[in-house]
Amino acid sequence: MEYIGRKPTNIMGVSLLHKCNFNCEHCGYIYVGEAEDHIIKPGYKLSWSQLINALDDCKSIPGSYWNMNYTGGEPTLWEDQGKTLVDVLIQTALAGQSPSYNTNGSWFDDYSRTYDFFFRYMEATTVPLMTFISMDKFHKNYDGLTGRAKSLDNIVKVMDEIPEEWKSQFRTHVIIIITKEPDSTLSAEMKAHYGASGITFGDFPLMRIGKAKKLVDQVPEMIEYFPPNQNESGGPRVLVLVGDDYYIGSERKGRLGRLKDLYTF
Ligand code: SF4
Repeated sequence: MEYIGRKPTNIMGVSLLHKCNFNCEHCGYIYVGEAEDHIIKPGYKLSWSQLINALDDCKSIPGSYWNMNYTGGEPTLWEDQGKTLVDVLIQTALAGQSPSYNTNGSWFDDYSRTYDFFFRYMEATTVPLMTFISMDKFHKNYDGLTGRAKSLDNIVKVMDEIPEEWKSQFRTHVIIIITKEPDSTLSAEMKAHYGASGITFGDFPLMRIGKAKKLVDQVPEMIEYFPPNQNESGGPRVLVLVGDDYYIGSERKGRLGRLKDLYTF
């Protein structure tokens, strides 16, 4: 999907915590007790000071503009030193980078929490914010009969209350994990209903990672979904931060506070 505003030069996936309030059958991240082949371990949490170090690292790469994409587990459950996810997003924007996050949407099942979240962000910064909500048969966070989701209803309602001049600051994109089954995506009616309020939808194939390794017969043909990790900026374009380490895929490449070491200027 298109970025709102200036296009980032680099992407950093930032894992905030190994904790989730869902227990999806296909989960690639939170499979407690079976996490030996994953870099995020049970009990893991990124601290506020590690986040500040990462934002300082981004600033140290000349000419770069980073999309900091926060994930978990479930990033809306993250807390440290009285800060929550919205503080992380605001801090990212104030540090001159582009924030986004992947959520299961459960935080937004409550209207007043949804209102507070988006209004706090809007009052702190004009930097665009992208929200990615995973919604599909694995997450079970919508009503399959009516084609409606509480989280999306609340986001639409809050967006209606946001002053006209600020609305374009926000974009919500629903990621649908699809399987081999032809009807595994969400219904056309549901997409049209929320699409009328500006919410976009995109299919993403079930991948053979985490618990989904047991669902091999549901994994669709692999299509190339990921752009190459180009080296235009003299170093990696896409990185993942887990604790004090930067990774490319599952390979540790660098240390927090020393991002510069990965680039040539
Ligand atoms: S919501 Fe995401 S992190 Fe949580 S169990 Fe489901 S797939 Fe895993």
